[in-house]
Amino acid sequence: MVLKPNFDFHIHTKWSDGICTCREVAEYAVSKGMRLIGIADHFSMDPEKNPKIARRLPDYYEEIRALDEEFRSQIRIKVALEVDARTYDFLSDKSIETLTSHNFDYYLFEYITDPYSYYPIETRDPILIISKIKKFKEILSDSRPVGIAHMEVRYLKDEKLEKVIEKLLETQLFVELNTSKDNYKHEKFQRIIEEKDIKLSIGSDAHIQTRIGDIEYPLNLLKRYNATNRLIFLNELK
Ligand SMILES: [Zn+2]
Repeated sequence: MVLKPNFDFHIHTKWSDGICTCREVAEYAVSKGMRLIGIADHFSMDPEKNPKIARRLPDYYEEIRALDEEFRSQIRIKVALEVDARTYDFLSDKSIETLTSHNFDYYLFEYITDPYSYYPIETRDPILIISKIKKFKEILSDSRPVGIAHMEVRYLKDEKLEKVIEKLLETQLFVELNTSKDNYKHEKFQRIIEEKDIKLSIGSDAHIQTRIGDIEYPLNLLKRYNATNRLIFLNELK
């Protein structure tokens, strides 16, 4: 099967910090001949961040589901969240209740290895954060993909990266190959792609229209490593 660059699992809209509406995203993706996209707007337990989506999560969910229905013959649109892992309570009981209040198609978590935080630094251990996300995946108790957006490998020392890879191998979490970060070009990141049991995703992290579907580079990387069979939603791509 030859994968075409007609999909993108990481797109932002006006629901968080993107500049397009969901409809504009859908129309643009259709005009580019894309077949499968995922809108994954930012979600944080910090009430000051992205208050719109936090206040109106049901509307976000319903709007994208309705668009998927409307555009169904041309494109499929998945609804996801990109959860900010910088807050110590990013997977508290309350957060889990909110995240599972709708049947999101998948979940991305961001700022896993990023050392910058508004919260106590001891909560920044990537192993701890990945363990929490693993538990969240277990709570879902189904096959919906849960994974890590644009993992910042460059912040990890070699020894720590080894531990992170070991941890990832124990989980069923995917790692995203992201267009907007050149981090995956880093030699250390390739070790993640080389590990045969780590699932992968591809996303542009588009915040503006023209970046939507800009996945050539990570797609070629996936092919070069013979890793296409590890891509999430592979059976829905044509
Ligand atoms: Zn993003």
